[in-house]
Amino acid sequence: MARIISLLNQKGGVGKTTTTVNLAAAIANAGNKVLVIDLDPQTHLGLHFGIDETAASVYDLLMDESVTAKDAVVNARKNIDLITSEVDLAAAESELASKTDRHDLLAKKLAPILDTYDYILIDCPPSLGLLTINALAVSKELIVPMQTHFLALQGVSRLFETVQMLVGGINPELSVTGIVLCMHEKNTKLAREVVDDLQGFFDASRESDVPWKNCVIFDPAIRRCVKLAEAPSFGQTIFDYEPDCAGAKDYATLAESVIRAHKTADVELVNEHA
Ligand code: ADP
Ligand code: MG
Repeated sequence: MARIISLLNQKGGVGKTTTTVNLAAAIANAGNKVLVIDLDPQTHLGLHFGIDETAASVYDLLMDESVTAKDAVVNARKNIDLITSEVDLAAAESELASKTDRHDLLAKKLAPILDTYDYILIDCPPSLGLLTINALAVSKELIVPMQTHFLALQGVSRLFETVQMLVGGINPELSVTGIVLCMHEKNTKLAREVVDDLQGFFDASRESDVPWKNCVIFDPAIRRCVKLAEAPSFGQTIFDYEPDCAGAKDYATLAESVIRAHKTADVELVNEHA
């Protein structure tokens, strides 16, 4: 059964797509079978992999009853499959609104292929509309890429409260696994203050029954690295483009942390039941 993770932040430009692509590549390099899904009408995810149009996009998958997940999946790299987006997906928000199963269409379509993958990563649009709700409905976990800006903590706590409200009825099992600090400049005073504030926020939530009570700030943070910004214009992941740069190292180590985060949770679960 795949571990299904949505990468979500209602802000654009924070590193969601960069993280989805390179985390997927690193998890695949570690020997796991990964599916990545682009739910953002900006269609950047496919471009990062050098894949343009496909026979069926996630729009077709959601809107056309006869399109199956298998029809929409294309192979992107060794161990990585992809479902692309298309600009028409922007219209899906309003088209979905009239459907009775509007919250769990994606979940229904993915159900037949969940056992095919070890990981499914979903790149969410920068909004909390019906597309994002479909991602949250099928996910077990959330990873939040963010930048350590002024007011970052307010953004994250508002995001979490909205998520809690949204998932209340739809997906009670959803939990926030971690924060990925993107384009991080750890030696600035602002970055240190924001990280301290965030850590304080999570520490204060440990005993409460909220979806982020086990949330960690992933170590390492992803350093600002120009190679990460260059790679997509060549249709390459950072491991294709510059496998020895800081960005590649950070994403490889992040993947180890993400893989381990789950194993730790499993052990805790076993201990609880023992
Ligand atoms: P989002 O998907 O949240 O909109 P992106 O992943 O597209 O964000 O990132 C926004 C911009 O920042 C892109 O131009 C991307 O190449 C760049 N970027 C992302 N992470 C880094 C990083 N660690 N170092 C340098 N540039 C980055
Ligand atoms: Mg994006």
